[in-house]
Amino acid sequence: MTDAAKYNVVFVLGGPGAGKGTQCDKIVKEFGFVHLSAGDLLRAARNDPNSEFREDIANHIKDGSIVPVAITCSLLKREMEKAKENNQDYFLIDGFPRNEDNLDGWNTQMSSQVNLKTVLFFDCPEEVCVDRCLERGKTSGRTDDNTESLKKRIQTYTECTMRVLHYYSTLGLVSKVSAERSPKEVFEDVKGIIMKVME
Ligand code: UDP
Ligand code: MG
Repeated sequence: MTDAAKYNVVFVLGGPGAGKGTQCDKIVKEFGFVHLSAGDLLRAARNDPNSEFREDIANHIKDGSIVPVAITCSLLKREMEKAKENNQDYFLIDGFPRNEDNLDGWNTQMSSQVNLKTVLFFDCPEEVCVDRCLERGKTSGRTDDNTESLKKRIQTYTECTMRVLHYYSTLGLVSKVSAERSPKEVFEDVKGIIMKVME
């Protein structure tokens, strides 16, 4: 596959509540990427009466553990194919890959069709992440924005997702942003990174 025919992808990673979704919305407004949140796609599949994986997904989300990659990857792929039909080929993939299984599945199924531009990493202290998620939990209706689920989500993040970040940093692909500031201040740094990506 020629480079021009490939999907251009930015992975967006960071702890729960680090601000991935908020910053992705801003990137979409300013730069016109397609935003695919793996978590949002999984929540939609969990709520879809026709999906055979509803219960499995619901349990993983509540437990803060990771859904098998075949499910997540096929949801992402379907959305990418749809967007490509509309000539959109710049993607923000938010909240994925989160562990080694995700990484292996992606590398097997997708990586030959993808230009991975960078991995945008929102670096945020754990206490700040927890406070933000508990605050969000007051109105989000999410089954995992509570103290118990959060403990497990943070554990998954530090034990699994940090390794994924380490893997990409050995490839020189990580762009790190300090996320313990207001959305507007964080976005100033994000903009610089995305502009470089689009050069
Ligand atoms: N999840 C998953 N695989 C993914 C992305 C999300 O299994 O690739 C599940 C996982 O259980 C996670 C939950 O969905 O804890 C919520 O993910 P989301 O990205 O929405 O949370 P955020 O990090 O944005 O708070
Ligand atoms: Mg999110």
